[in-house]
Amino acid sequence: MSSLALVTGANRGIGLAIAKALKAAGHDVVVSYRSGEAPEGFKSVLMDVTSTQSVDAAFDSIEAQWGLPEIIVANAGITKDGLVMRMSDEDFQSVIDANLTGAFRVARRATKPLLKLKRGRLIFVGSVVGATGSAGQVNYASSKSGLVGMARSFAREIGSRGITSNVIAPGFVETDMTSTLDEKRRSEISASVPLGRFCTPDEIAAVVAFIASPQASYITGALIPVDGGLGMGH
Ligand code: NDP
Repeated sequence: MSSLALVTGANRGIGLAIAKALKAAGHDVVVSYRSGEAPEGFKSVLMDVTSTQSVDAAFDSIEAQWGLPEIIVANAGITKDGLVMRMSDEDFQSVIDANLTGAFRVARRATKPLLKLKRGRLIFVGSVVGATGSAGQVNYASSKSGLVGMARSFAREIGSRGITSNVIAPGFVETDMTSTLDEKRRSEISASVPLGRFCTPDEIAAVVAFIASPQASYITGALIPVDGGLGMGH
């Protein structure tokens, strides 16, 4: 079944791969972007997930032009790594605001009309470090584990309306976000992953496309690892 899908932060990286996979699965896809250019071949809206006004305006624009997005992928996210002794309030809060509160702003606005429609898919992009923790990422890991409680609360609150809510938890993925790691760190990470390598954005996107599909209609409140075995199911 083809539905309208929205992917946030989809101008590059994992978000763009997800947009392409959902399109390949036959969905009509809107990508949201915050800066730069929207990728070609998609419907697009500007959205900064740190602003409620921006999120609400983007949804108003999508609904007016193309109808209700039924598949929502909250993908936009940032890192601001640093050791905790040097982590400022701003370093902590800005990551929570983008990754956790941002996903909340999107999911809250998306579900309003879906309650009446009685179907929908909320898909949050978390991280393996939300379960395992990560030195130098107290802010980021907190934001990603927060997504699990949030997704499961959505699942309980609106499951009776036919809306599923799940978290995909990638391990280390080849994108701009990990391109700053030096060779030594990359080798250490690869050595700690049972599959011995980083993930491609397409490998995350394929799982998101499955969760968005009718075949995944009875999966909700799940934390789905796509991490090469790094988190061993946690
Ligand atoms: P990238 O840094 O490549 O892309 C991040 C995307 O998020 C960009 O499109 C960026 O937009 C967007 N974004 C950031 N802040 C905002 C904001 N305030 N409003 C709207 N959009 C915003 O990251 P990845 O593709 O690697 O990551 C995508 C998701 O996957 C993130 O949630 C990340 O935490 C998660 N993840 C990534 C892993 C990895 O190893 N790469 C591992 C586990 C999880 P802009 O271009 O304007 O900056």
